[in-house]
Amino acid sequence: MTKRRIYALSGNSTFALEARKQLIELLLRQDKAIQQLFIQNADELAAEIRKYEVSGNAYQLNEVIDKLLQQQASKLEEGLTLILLDGLQASIEAGIHQSKQATLRVLNRAGIDWKPMERSFLRQHTKAVEAMETRTIKGLNLSDRIWGQSRKTRDAIGSVVREAIATGEHPYRVAEMLEQYVRNGAGSLVSDYPNMIERLEGNIPMNLSYESLRLARTEMAAAFGEATRQAAELNPSNKGIQWSLSNAGVACDKCIGIAGHNEGKGEGVYSLETLPEYPAHPNCLCDLSEVTEGVEDFVDRLIEWMANPLEHQDIERWYQTVYKTEDI
Ligand SMILES: [Zn+2]
Repeated sequence: MTKRRIYALSGNSTFALEARKQLIELLLRQDKAIQQLFIQNADELAAEIRKYEVSGNAYQLNEVIDKLLQQQASKLEEGLTLILLDGLQASIEAGIHQSKQATLRVLNRAGIDWKPMERSFLRQHTKAVEAMETRTIKGLNLSDRIWGQSRKTRDAIGSVVREAIATGEHPYRVAEMLEQYVRNGAGSLVSDYPNMIERLEGNIPMNLSYESLRLARTEMAAAFGEATRQAAELNPSNKGIQWSLSNAGVACDKCIGIAGHNEGKGEGVYSLETLPEYPAHPNCLCDLSEVTEGVEDFVDRLIEWMANPLEHQDIERWYQTVYKTEDI
């Protein structure tokens, strides 16, 4: 076989940039949605608590607070689930984007019917969503992890509210504290309630939504990574996946090691089998992009292959095992 420029990224780099942009826009949108959800959720609870102002009877509040907390925890769980499932659709779409566009383009250029492959990528999308929903970490699936976050939030809010009730705060003040906690963090309560926050310190998160935000970002990154890897399996011109550091310049040693590793395909370029688990850690900002054979070269090879399948056995193998089997 003739020697070809196999690591020419340029032909498909626009698709990689588009995919990266889709993921980053999703993360920003999702962060905002989660923060808003937390504020709305705490505000609803604060409004309930304020109803007890009229009677001014904190004891009454004490009797219903468990029920109110549980009610809001269920709503938070529901809201987080909707946001994350919505986000999975978008992150998987982003992960598939580069391989899909690159594949359809070379097939189109070579005059090969690309519709079967478009359907394959669509099926890949559905499979990736299912895989993410059922993926377990330490025995917990996605809905268990969301439930865990809702419960932790309930417990943190519960600690603050109960402590405030116990110290005899008026329900109106309890409601105010809650509104402040969810917006500005526990630290913002210190000047007004120094003793209370000191007693609670270590038991409540300083930032109420921090862990949920982190969970959501990690799930989205994992979905993007899995979709990128699976979609690359469908692309006949795939040569590997490149792990690159973000240009924010904040990479940790682990990520620097992964992005600098060279198994003979170029720096940070892995085969689909050897690609390390992505993200490497929560809040990892690294990027994954597909490395493909140069577009012109590959189109030439496709045309040669159509004339004589034996000439390009890698393409013939892809045709038999991917293209044909997916066209059912
Ligand atoms: Zn990283």
